[in-house]
Amino acid sequence: MPELPEVETVRRNLDRLLAGATIVDVRFGDFTGSIANPAPEIFAEEVRGRRFTGTGRRGKYLLLQIDSGDTIAIHLRMTGDLQVTLADEPWGKHLHLGLRLDDGRELRFTDVRKFGRIWLLTPPELEDLDERIGPEPLDPAFTDEQFHERLKSRSRAIKALLLEQTFLAGVGNIYADEALFAAKIHPLRSASSLTRDEANALLAAIRVAFQQAIDRGGTTVRNYRNGLGEAGGNQHYLQIYNLAEGDPCPRCGTPINRIVVAQRGTRFCATCQPLEAQA
Ligand SMILES: [Zn+2]
Repeated sequence: MPELPEVETVRRNLDRLLAGATIVDVRFGDFTGSIANPAPEIFAEEVRGRRFTGTGRRGKYLLLQIDSGDTIAIHLRMTGDLQVTLADEPWGKHLHLGLRLDDGRELRFTDVRKFGRIWLLTPPELEDLDERIGPEPLDPAFTDEQFHERLKSRSRAIKALLLEQTFLAGVGNIYADEALFAAKIHPLRSASSLTRDEANALLAAIRVAFQQAIDRGGTTVRNYRNGLGEAGGNQHYLQIYNLAEGDPCPRCGTPINRIVVAQRGTRFCATCQPLEAQA
């Protein structure tokens, strides 16, 4: 599933491709369930004739602003994919929405698993979305101290907490495992047990993992494409997420453990990431 770096990569590519383009027509495939709100025909009415004025991202939500002041918000979930193609290219089986542009191109939303969702949000609705999502890890205004404060009141396993989008924006299974490994923190440690130093190390590890993945165009484990139909490049640099149980830890050689935390497969090294806090 795309996480913050993948959505950010798509955003950057679409920002360039959609700049100044106007939506002249809206086409749907057989499945219109991707349009979560408003009803598809209202959505089409509201966006037809509108010009793209900019892009944004909040957590794993991609935001496309149009000149009515509304925002098209898109959550790619498992297999959602956005691409700008020529409008006369064949309509694919899993293609659910096409926004035809004034220059003969089309922004297309394809989704094999059909879990992806699209909303047209008014400014107050966008504000509501913003308020439901935790701080952005890459926001320089979000400090180590604030992160540690947020951890203190939470007894959940740290891995499970990192996956909660209301706690922190944009972290999913891949980067949670990678960051906990880099910061040498066991995924089942209670969040409130993390010391200030551990909290600092964890936030730093999340930031490094995100920034490096963005620089490499995101991580493609299965389906993710970068908005240009291409795979990302960060999957070649994963430390632990792509290892199988028993594979040697890349740092110390101990066989990697695999457990399930918050219903997600979780890899860690019991030597590098001990369950007891280090003195
Ligand atoms: Zn290790």
